Amino acid sequence: MSKVLIIGCGGVAQVAIHKCCQNSDVFTEVCIASRTKEKCDALAERLRGTTATKLTTARVDADDVEQLTALIRREQPDLVMHIALPYQNLKVMDACLACGVNYLDTANYEPERLDDPAWRAAYEKRCREQGFSAYFDYSYQWAYRERFEKAGLTALLGTGFDPGVTQAYCAYARKHLFDRIDTIDILDCNGGDHGYPFATNFNPELNLREVSAPGSYWEDGHWVEVPPMSIHRTYDFDQVGQKDMYLLHHEEIESLAKNLPEVKRIRFFMTFGQSYLTHMKCLENVGMLSTEPIMYEGREIVPIQFLKALLPDPASLGPRTVGKTNIGCIFTGEKDGAQKSAYIYNVCDHQACYREVGSQAVSYTTGVPAMVGAMMLLTGRWNRPGVHTVEEFDPDPYMDGLNRWGLPWQICDHPVLVD
Ligand code: NDP
Repeated sequence: MSKVLIIGCGGVAQVAIHKCCQNSDVFTEVCIASRTKEKCDALAERLRGTTATKLTTARVDADDVEQLTALIRREQPDLVMHIALPYQNLKVMDACLACGVNYLDTANYEPERLDDPAWRAAYEKRCREQGFSAYFDYSYQWAYRERFEKAGLTALLGTGFDPGVTQAYCAYARKHLFDRIDTIDILDCNGGDHGYPFATNFNPELNLREVSAPGSYWEDGHWVEVPPMSIHRTYDFDQVGQKDMYLLHHEEIESLAKNLPEVKRIRFFMTFGQSYLTHMKCLENVGMLSTEPIMYEGREIVPIQFLKALLPDPASLGPRTVGKTNIGCIFTGEKDGAQKSAYIYNVCDHQACYREVGSQAVSYTTGVPAMVGAMMLLTGRWNRPGVHTVEEFDPDPYMDGLNRWGLPWQICDHPVLVD
């Protein structure tokens, strides 16, 4: 008997809401609140009659702590699932603390405006001290740890696929497959085709910020940063085939390096087709990926936000996307004195996701773990006051939840390694 408040009603949130509604024994009541309430109403309308979960909707601006606090006080949820944008993470955490409610999200904090002098100074200090230049990092949310501990509340960060499931795979490998893990390669392959010359599979602004940034990986206790897309490999993915993949900076490397300090090297690769890369480079060259506001005909506009308005809404790609995703982690290390390797991964079919919940697989593979993470908190299996990432908890109930709720995983012994 639990009530959750879900903030956001985009591609990922819509899947999470569908999944909560399939799991009505745990999610007896869901309030969907977002900036555009009409999207919440339309989804609630579609789901009513198909679920025992009671659905209500609300409008909220998650950039406004007072609005959030008033909404949480009115709705009295057991958990707030923040599935809007990373820009609002700190505001939603503040509101959860003010109201004494547990918190969950799917991506770590990132500022919307990069020209705030206070933020810039802290960012430049972190770049110098830590050696990676991504705009996002965990420090902002880890700084809430003591406040959540004192309040007896749990904040579960990054329960999507990557971050999220990939860290559960790491915790599972450490618990069951290895005595010591030496290297982790996280491989994110999207073999799907939506038929557009260019579109992103999740929020375009966040996606393009992420992939146009320098790449970095963790090696021997420090970060190694490389120019964007400068490390390229090909890999033959189960049920997808051979794809080009590129090394990116990714947020879970930061928490894994902290929580699995024995691991010597952690890398993240994502597949991209040539057309995507050519479009992105061209947009970058003409300034369309910029987050700096410019004046246009007397009005301030942010180029990347204008671009977002032109690109297809990721939530609309579902009916047109065919093919599969394959996301997982390759481990090397030692077990019982012998060297070993293993690959844990999930394969997800875009059209099967669309038939089930009306979304493509990138939203699906993120929305399911958001629901499974929420289930861990609502059923008391992962409650630990403080601010935590997925690999800090017992992976077994979460891995069972993935199998049961649509993201079954498999283990391959002796996988082909990435050089
Ligand atoms: P979308 O852009 O599709 O949806 C975002 C939603 O948030 C929209 O409903 C939007 O409302 C709402 N929103 C935006 N700003 C506000 C605000 N100020 N107040 C209230 N609501 C707001 O994003 P996605 O669904 O693709 O992504 C959701 C989250 O999931 C992001 O944090 C993303 O980084 C993360 N993600 C994580 C992945 C993982 O594997 N861990 C993978 C993919 C995404 P409106 O309808 O008005 O625009």
